[in-house]
Amino acid sequence: MPRKRIIIAGGGLAGLSCAWHLQRSNIDCHIFEKEKEPGGLCRSKDINSFTFDYDGHLLHFRHAYAFNLIKGLLGKNLAEHQRSAWICSFGRYTRYPFQANLYGLPLPIIKECLVGFIRASKNGKHSAGKDGDFLSWINNTFGRGIARYFMVPYNSKFWTLPPQKITCAWLDGFIPVPSLQEVVDGTIEENKRQFGYSAQFWYPKKGGVSLVPLSLAASIKNIHTQREITGIDIYNRQVEIAFRHREKYDYLITTLPLPQMVSLIKEIPFKVKRLFGKLKWNSIFNLNLGIEKKDYSGRHWIYFPQKEFCFFRVGFFHNFSDYVCPEGKSALYAEVSYSKQKPIDKKMIVSKIRKDLDEAGILAAKDRVCAEDVNDIEYGYPIYDKNYQRARSEIIEYLRQYDIFTCGRYGSWKYMSMEDALLDGKNVAERQIAPLIC
Ligand SMILES: Cc1cc2nc3c(=O)[nH]c(=O)nc-3n(C[C@H](O)[C@H](O)[C@H](O)COP(=O)(O)OP(=O)(O)OC[C@H]3O[C@@H](n4cnc5c(N)ncnc54)[C@H](O)[C@@H]3O)c2cc1C
Repeated sequence: MPRKRIIIAGGGLAGLSCAWHLQRSNIDCHIFEKEKEPGGLCRSKDINSFTFDYDGHLLHFRHAYAFNLIKGLLGKNLAEHQRSAWICSFGRYTRYPFQANLYGLPLPIIKECLVGFIRASKNGKHSAGKDGDFLSWINNTFGRGIARYFMVPYNSKFWTLPPQKITCAWLDGFIPVPSLQEVVDGTIEENKRQFGYSAQFWYPKKGGVSLVPLSLAASIKNIHTQREITGIDIYNRQVEIAFRHREKYDYLITTLPLPQMVSLIKEIPFKVKRLFGKLKWNSIFNLNLGIEKKDYSGRHWIYFPQKEFCFFRVGFFHNFSDYVCPEGKSALYAEVSYSKQKPIDKKMIVSKIRKDLDEAGILAAKDRVCAEDVNDIEYGYPIYDKNYQRARSEIIEYLRQYDIFTCGRYGSWKYMSMEDALLDGKNVAERQIAPLIC
């Protein structure tokens, strides 16, 4: 059988993992990546002796395979942490998750949340189908108090849409659901138990999160960087690189954001074009700051459900690793969510973040900032609204007719963690491509 030519569009974690697993099966492929360095969203950069990630990126593992793969690559350079996550509301900090740690909130709020949770437990309508709306799931699972004071404001801010406009298809265990006993325990004192998939996390001791993709890339052949894919000719099976050069393929694996495919593929039928128009996402404006002051809180990150703060989360790089920031200083990131339906003023947002950090008692106006870095992440999280399922699956089906395989968080257009992106790359390599070759 003649050799098949396989092209992977994009050298983020999913593309790298796909190439790594293909290579392990003795299948050659070529990665075309538009940036100078592979890694995609999991890159890091050094600025004034601070190592910043493109927003906070922590490793959580649910699958032994992914853990062993990363452990094998990073060895002793991988450190485990017990999460210290908090919520800022009603002018105070309480432990995450809100629903299991009402302790410390004003008494009338605790009462409303607890009564609501008891009522919801009695109703026993916990589970919602994947297509059920997220607001009903919140109310049925946690009751009206927890919905009102955390779940609805936080999720509306994060998704930039009210939860009744989102389905539950993305949930997949991301939101911890404590028992009634655990909620009661958490009103009397801080809950001893840690909840949810992020209770532990891993992070490289040195080098920032980019150590993960860079270690993977080290043994992969044929990674072509600074090669932006500017067009795809599905009839002649060719990708166009930087508007001039053309590369032939038999199979194309794309990790590029799915909505971008509509402008890359020439002559796309109108019916399919309309499906692309139904895809929605939020974007994340990320501000990283290096600060001339030590922080002793030990906190990893804090959620901000209330409207008064423009960010939904603030995290602290220096508590992930001792090597990401110079001795005696600290480093933080703030994340603001926005979208077409809820835009932000990009000229004003940095000063607004600084003002709100001051308001939250995190960074006083007088504190000296010695490094600043902005990352405007256009494709943040795919939004699972009522059109999501149909539009996504029909687009993917259309692409498959032309031997285009989708992979990764943005290629497959799914809410995926780094671990999921790695496993998706493996899955596409071993279950979809390898059987066509071998
Ligand atoms: C704000 C934020 C915070 C996150 N935090 C975490 C976390 O703490 N823990 C966790 O596990 N996960 C986290 N994630 C998810 C994680 O970033 C992703 O799951 C993972 O990075 C996805 O990898 P990918 O390869 O699918 O996509 P990407 O990393 O986006 O890779 C796609 C690649 O394609 C390249 N590309 C794009 N267009 C072109 C083109 N035209 N031609 C050539 N190349 C192109 C890009 O440069 C990029 O390298 C977070 C995501 C976001 C948005």
